[in-house]
Amino acid sequence: MSAHYQWPILTTSRAFVLANAHETILNGELVPSWARLRDMRFRQWPRLTTTRAIMTALILMSGGVDSYACAHFFKSQLKRSPTAFFVDYGQGAARNERKAFDRVAAALGGKTLFASLNLQRKFGTGLIPGRNGLLIMAALAIAPKRTSSIAIGIHSGTNYYDCSEHFLKRADEFVQEYSNGAVRVSAPFLHWSKRQIFNYCLEKQLDLSLTYSCEKGGKPCGKCASCRDRNAFDAR
Ligand SMILES: [Zn+2]
Repeated sequence: MSAHYQWPILTTSRAFVLANAHETILNGELVPSWARLRDMRFRQWPRLTTTRAIMTALILMSGGVDSYACAHFFKSQLKRSPTAFFVDYGQGAARNERKAFDRVAAALGGKTLFASLNLQRKFGTGLIPGRNGLLIMAALAIAPKRTSSIAIGIHSGTNYYDCSEHFLKRADEFVQEYSNGAVRVSAPFLHWSKRQIFNYCLEKQLDLSLTYSCEKGGKPCGKCASCRDRNAFDAR
């Protein structure tokens, strides 16, 4: 396997990872801020009990491969299960996505949250204007106290604005302002391709049969972007 998708090995302590998780995860990088580490050596460690208590992630999870990998990533980094959040916003696949969400969330452990948004319309395949912004705002609205990170499994390789670095930066600023700096938006796979996410799942032995990906709902159509990605992966 190529080393491209492997995260850099963190040789620093868990305490450091927790204290810096915002900076390190936000940009899809896990390379610690060495300047900050150097500074910290001259001071006391941050109040780690507080840091540990507040470093709680809320993961937007559809029951698909990307969000499963994202939730697993947070669980492995923070050494505890994040809270998984499912939103039914009228997507055609809501029913099957919810079933997959339940399977994946059970496999990961941790709490689950749900929201049903009545937008008075149903959505098919392809771009849904404002979708990820909507999901992040819903997560902010429902986030339990002490949530410090809202995470989303967006990745590279699409032309969607709300999967871009620019979008992430804007969403993060927006959420920070809303929350007085208490909550950040994280996207650990922002710069990863779909292939790298699949490779992560393979390496971590995630059971992808738990997931559901077709945008249409029902039996996988084989034609939508999610089905094509899935088929490319299965064919390897
Ligand atoms: Zn499909």
